[in-house]
Amino acid sequence: MIILGLEGTAHTIGASVINDEGEILSDVRKVFTTEEGGLIPNIVAKHHIQEGPKVIEEAIKEADIKEKDIELISFSQGPGLPLSLAVCKNLARDLSKKLKKPLIGANHICGHLEIGKLLTKAKDPVFVFTSGANTQIIAYEGKKYRIFGECLSIALGNALDKFGREIGLGFPAGPKIESLAKEGEYVKLPYVVKGMDVEFSGILTKSINMFKQGVKKEDLCYSLQETFFSMLAEVTERALAHCDKKEVLLIGGVAANQRFCEMLEIMCKERGAKFYAVPMKYSGDQAAMIAWQGYLEYKNGRRIENNFDIKPGWRIDQVEVNWI
Ligand code: ATP
Repeated sequence: MIILGLEGTAHTIGASVINDEGEILSDVRKVFTTEEGGLIPNIVAKHHIQEGPKVIEEAIKEADIKEKDIELISFSQGPGLPLSLAVCKNLARDLSKKLKKPLIGANHICGHLEIGKLLTKAKDPVFVFTSGANTQIIAYEGKKYRIFGECLSIALGNALDKFGREIGLGFPAGPKIESLAKEGEYVKLPYVVKGMDVEFSGILTKSINMFKQGVKKEDLCYSLQETFFSMLAEVTERALAHCDKKEVLLIGGVAANQRFCEMLEIMCKERGAKFYAVPMKYSGDQAAMIAWQGYLEYKNGRRIENNFDIKPGWRIDQVEVNWI
């Protein structure tokens, strides 16, 4: 079976063609970026309206197939920015009508988890999911993906991006913070783990204030990373023990951070667990994961509901898992 996936939950509009063996035949993405300032939803949506048809065309060309070869269209139904989701849904619905091929709506977070498993061969890990808008420690327990710990306010990627914005790094700031951190030294910041949850917002405010008071940005970048990542390593270690699992899989855009990988790897080694990180190319938002997720659900009998709509607040523990 040939599946076309469409991703459009936030800054990225992407299209990917895969087959039912999980082979990625094409993966085309256009990411909305800015030199300064953040994501303005209606400007991002305009970007997706403009680029959407082009990424679909390119993905079909790159996969070396004809439009009529597509047998299933899967799109990211949520969670995400409503305007971005609506653009993606419309593109998918129109293509499905045009080709008279079935449509399925995939949960973006399940997509991240399942492509991580597909590409790393991890079987039943504790997932550390850290992207722009999400920070969750997730594991499959009792026939559902359940959230064992999460951020109480701002998520890890957004916290890094917000700090970057305040110190003039533009968007996305994560990679720039990672490279500045290499020249920094530790300055004391608060450390806030509440039960199994983490709270980044107070630490962020404190760091911004310290920057305004003249603390070097390299030192703040280093200390922010050490603090945020340690908090998550602590919660992940407890989730491993609680669920009695033997694997950790890091997914989401912040998985590109080498220092974060290193810290989780050390923790895993000490517990006799195996650490995996999704390959960098697939750590951020892309449509291959949406195509694979849609296919897994479709193969196991799921069909899109009548009068379907976008699901901006769709949590992973609300998804009925029919494919494991
Ligand atoms: P979501 O998937 O939750 O909708 P998103 O689309 O913004 O959010 P991703 O594309 O998965 O998320 O990841 C983007 C985030 O990853 C940004 O916040 C970015 O700053 C961060 N990021 C990317 N590379 C790095 C890095 N090397 N170090 C730290 N953070 C990084």
